[in-house]
Amino acid sequence: MKKIVVLTGAGVSAESGIRTFRDSDGMWEEYSIEEVATYDAWLKNPALVLDFYNKRRQQLAKVKPNAAHLALKQLEEKYDVTIITQNVDDLHERAGSSKILHLHGELTKVRSTVDQNLIYDIGYKDVGLGDTCESGHQLRPHIVWFGEAVPMIEHAAEIVAEADVFMVVGTSLLVYPAAGLIYYAPPASAKYLIDPAGMHVSRVANLEVIRKKAGEGVPELVDMLMNN
Ligand code: NAD
Repeated sequence: MKKIVVLTGAGVSAESGIRTFRDSDGMWEEYSIEEVATYDAWLKNPALVLDFYNKRRQQLAKVKPNAAHLALKQLEEKYDVTIITQNVDDLHERAGSSKILHLHGELTKVRSTVDQNLIYDIGYKDVGLGDTCESGHQLRPHIVWFGEAVPMIEHAAEIVAEADVFMVVGTSLLVYPAAGLIYYAPPASAKYLIDPAGMHVSRVANLEVIRKKAGEGVPELVDMLMNN
C-alpha cells in the first residue's frame, strides 16, 4: 500500500468554525501569544491560561469535522495514511482517521504539572485552579506552548521521510519545527500544498501548490488520488 502523509494546520479546521491564529479574524487579535500560550504565561497567570483553553474546549464541543477531514478519512480505503497535525482539536479523530500524530498536543487532554506522564482525557470539560493529578499537583493543558520542545517532531520527520505522497493543508508554514517537515519528504514523492494563501516554498521538488480552501481542495485531490 502506498503511503500518504498529510501535515495539517489550523486552516483545515477553519471551515468547521475554529478560527486560525494568523488570518485577519484570527484569535490572536483577542489574545496575545505571550498572554496565553507560553510557559511564562502559565507561571504569570495560570487562571487566564486555563480559561483560554476552557473556551477553546467549549467551542470544540460545538463544531464538526468538515469535508476536508472526511475526505482524508476516505483516503484510507486505498492508502496507508498518517496525519501529522499541528492542530489541538480532535476533528481528524471525529472524522474517523486512524493514524494521527498531534505535534502540538490535544485540547481534550490535560497533564500533571510535575509528572508529564500523568495525562488525563477530559473531553470538553473545564479545568480550574485546584484541579489536580492523582499525586496532588495542578493540572495544565496538554499543549505544546510556543517556546516549548516538540517531543514528537523526530518521529514525525521519520514518517514524512517514508511518504510516497506528502500533502500539506491549511498551514502558514511559519511555526517551526513543524514547518520544516516538508524538507524531509523524499525528493521523488509527489507533494501538494493546499492553502488559499498559497505560500511560496523554495527548494522542494515535485510540489504543486493548490490555492483553494481545504473544504474544496482536499476532496478534489482525494478524488484524483482515489482514481489514480
Ligand atoms: P496559522 O494560523 O499560522 O495558519 C493558518 C493557515 O490556514 C494560513 O496559511 C491560512 O491561509 C490557511 N487557511 C485559512 N483558511 C483556510 C481554509 N479554509 N482552508 C485551508 N487553509 C486555510 O496556523 P498553523 O500554521 O497551523 O500554525 C499555528 C499554530 O496554531 C499551530 O501550532 C496550531 O497548533 C495552532 N492552532 C490550532 C488550531 C486548531 O487546533 N484547530 C486553531 C488555531 C491555531
